[in-house]
Amino acid sequence: MARYVFITGGVVSSLGKGLAAAALGALLQTRGYKVRLRKLDPYLNVDPGTMSPYQHGEVYVTEDGAETDLDLGHYERFTGVPARGSDSVSSGRIYWTVITRERRGDYLGATVQVIPHVTNAIKEFIVNDAGDADIVICEIGGTVGDIEGLPFLEAIRQLGNELPRGDCAYIHVTLVPWIPSAGELKTKPTQHSVRELRAIGIQPDALLCRCDRPIPPEARRKIALQCSVREDAVIPAIDCETIYEVPIRYHEAGLDDVLLQALGVEEVAAPALATWEEIVERVKKPEGEVTVAIVGKYTGLIDAYKSLYEALTHGGIANRVRVHLEWIDAEAFAGEMPDDRLQDVNAVLVPGGFGERGAEGKIAAVTYAREKGLPFLGICFGMQLACIEVARNLAGLDGASSTEFGPCPHPVVGLLTEWEKEGRVQRRRADEDLGGTMRLGAYPCLLEPGSLVHGIYGAQRISERHRHRYEVNINYRPILEEAGLRFSGMSPDGRLPEIIELPAHPWFVGVQFHPELKSRPFAPHPLFAAFIRAALEQSRLV
Ligand code: GLN
Repeated sequence: MARYVFITGGVVSSLGKGLAAAALGALLQTRGYKVRLRKLDPYLNVDPGTMSPYQHGEVYVTEDGAETDLDLGHYERFTGVPARGSDSVSSGRIYWTVITRERRGDYLGATVQVIPHVTNAIKEFIVNDAGDADIVICEIGGTVGDIEGLPFLEAIRQLGNELPRGDCAYIHVTLVPWIPSAGELKTKPTQHSVRELRAIGIQPDALLCRCDRPIPPEARRKIALQCSVREDAVIPAIDCETIYEVPIRYHEAGLDDVLLQALGVEEVAAPALATWEEIVERVKKPEGEVTVAIVGKYTGLIDAYKSLYEALTHGGIANRVRVHLEWIDAEAFAGEMPDDRLQDVNAVLVPGGFGERGAEGKIAAVTYAREKGLPFLGICFGMQLACIEVARNLAGLDGASSTEFGPCPHPVVGLLTEWEKEGRVQRRRADEDLGGTMRLGAYPCLLEPGSLVHGIYGAQRISERHRHRYEVNINYRPILEEAGLRFSGMSPDGRLPEIIELPAHPWFVGVQFHPELKSRPFAPHPLFAAFIRAALEQSRLV
């Protein structure tokens, strides 16, 4: 039977609970445990698929095609355990489940209530489908005190009573702010937050105290006394230079020992932290640097491109270089050639995106990279726009565009209404709901022998994750090939272009999938490793 660790947050949001859960998962793995990480989000959306990345950050897609919270990306990057749709749930989905059951008549005769019906559905989610995990880490989104989060907190309180004693532990992440005018670290917000949690009936076993500087022993003692937590369980979580340092710092601060004690585990192996030490060494002591321009729409919020940002860092780790990112808002130069901003970069990346706004600017960035021989990587929307660019400027198809922006004379990119998944035909209509209806999750792709990507992957059949509604229109393949484009990756039935490249260019690749979702610091994705290597080679030319 699995043991459970619940992670709650207090004082303010954005304390990095997701990262804390992920780093804890990685640390427990170094001590020999199999882990599974789960996220419970209090919002009423059924999933984050239709939420703005501006508000909520990136939508992370799992192998099995669920659109989930970006924290699942942290979990996968730190633990390498592929997340599943069943690892992420929102209040919206829980209520949906309960109401569906009510309509079906499952509760016939009963008054349907938050306790026990909603809390039971939450508990089912937590304990279901844990596989062979020794420890399941569940992060509760939001902050203690939020109205929306109450049913989740109530459910994890109940589980503490229902599971065998010692099978679950609670970690509360708080903030210990530095007040410059007083010249002091303040423990009061932590005290209040724990009081709130205890009022619900949850006594934390450990506190992870986020702070921008070391927390002196007196402050830790005070927190321990006021919050009824043992002093060695008041763990300072100090800001780090790189997130990949966090598992090591947690171990030094004693988090794993405290937690394993709380779970009643007595003898455990010493942690094997060498992999994390090597990653940190490579991040902190690079041997060179490159600059990559990311020409996108949500450039104001890095969280909107979280996995991409990390995957580029991993490409840097693979090549022992620091990767500087130049975030460029595509709307700033709509339709015009970007000049000075791209002059000093070593590579250009056009990431995934939706909608017409900024599209012409992104196409202009493709033209720039293509003409100047700058390494170019187009991801999803980026690949679609690269095909449109080639169609317009190399194949002479004026008005080539995507039907995502409305009718056009040359629909080089068009709506996908029918495709195959695991031997079954999937169908979509133009007028259906927007939620959960894209081509989502892992699909196989066959690589053309001798192509650039075949060399990069070192395999002929690959699998990558998707999240899109439109596809490069196969009918334009002959004319685009004539213009110099190579279709180097295709769906096994040969109907869906998955990868394009320009053999006449030093490094020009577009992929219909999202390789960034599968990159790990300890296993950088081959495409990102190769892209950064190409950028490094470019930097040596200038
Ligand atoms: N907007 C495009 C589509 O729906 C690309 C999506 C993406 O980049 N994720 O196909």
